[in-house]
Amino acid sequence: MNQSSALDEPCWCGSALRLGDCHFDREHRRPLLLSDVDDEARRRGNQPRCWAAPATSTPCAGGAALSHTVARASLEKIAREQHVYSVAWGGVTSLIRTMGKRMPKLLGIRQASAFFGFCVGHDNSLFEPIEQRPFAGTPEQCALLLYRAVCRELHYCNVKNDMFPTYRLLDSGLGIDEQREHQSLCAKRADTASIELRTLESMRGEIGRAISLKQYDWCGYWVLELERPPPVMCCGLSFESSPLTVAGRDSKTRPVLQGLSMHGFTSYGRHFVALVWDLRQGPVAGRRVQAWRFSLPQETVGRYLAIRMIEMSDNTHIAPDWWDDQVFEIKEMLIGRINSGIGEGTYQGSAFWDGLRLPFPRPVVEVSVRLQ
Ligand SMILES: [Zn+2]
Ligand SMILES: [Zn+2]
Repeated sequence: MNQSSALDEPCWCGSALRLGDCHFDREHRRPLLLSDVDDEARRRGNQPRCWAAPATSTPCAGGAALSHTVARASLEKIAREQHVYSVAWGGVTSLIRTMGKRMPKLLGIRQASAFFGFCVGHDNSLFEPIEQRPFAGTPEQCALLLYRAVCRELHYCNVKNDMFPTYRLLDSGLGIDEQREHQSLCAKRADTASIELRTLESMRGEIGRAISLKQYDWCGYWVLELERPPPVMCCGLSFESSPLTVAGRDSKTRPVLQGLSMHGFTSYGRHFVALVWDLRQGPVAGRRVQAWRFSLPQETVGRYLAIRMIEMSDNTHIAPDWWDDQVFEIKEMLIGRINSGIGEGTYQGSAFWDGLRLPFPRPVVEVSVRLQ
């Protein structure tokens, strides 16, 4: 085969481009600047969307809102000079984990937890029951917490998916073996990201439709009131997976995946941690929450949930005084967990959690619960 026809063959990396337009001579190309890639991701992340449909049928109004998923008034309670530590967007390094670590960084509370995910009209009207009324752990309020967490996750999952063509170019200037390694890593991550995207889209659809009908009987929740503001505040969604598998439509088995949102916040002078999920998605999240509820003593449960919020969500905000108080080993342990993404299976019995000196306010009352 002569070179020009080889260049017309599809590229080995699976991009569907011809070799000549894709990996040919890539080892001699100029490497991409990571800062440019991060800028592109940030630009895409800041493109306003409104994710309010299908939870409402009213049209968008008032332009883009910078929506806070953890209210600024909450963050003010734990901020130092208007800043909190955030395990926020780590740029390229958080997705293509070849360099650097994600670390909690100081972030102004104007930016912390905020995203351009709703128009002004819907941000105000849809979330009025949680923003303008004291939180009481009602099914409606819990459903809205979950909806907002799902929309935020979907917003950034879209960005992640849109970024893969750029991430695939990060092997410019590398040797052939490294190119192959990079492309296979990208393919794996792109696969996971597209599954995540489909799951989130269907969650948003189902939860949104129920909210628009004011039906909340599908909503599972566990709401604790704390004696003081939680030093770790959060609005995040993680996926609980079960080692059990269920038969899929194609008669293959797949792991049971279920979204579980975690929220730490204050409302009208009271302080809460809430876990919310969709009961229709399966029994996994409910069983897990039930296990925590029955096995973790009161002194331990807040600490345990704080660690989960820190490791599971990039929308977690930490009181600077609390973080700076931790000894080096604890910080290292927490940073390790942020970066390894270990989730379930990390439950190590209450003795482990009791041994950690991570002061966290005790729950004073179980406000509301629905496990099934
Ligand atoms: Zn290629
Ligand atoms: Zn809207």
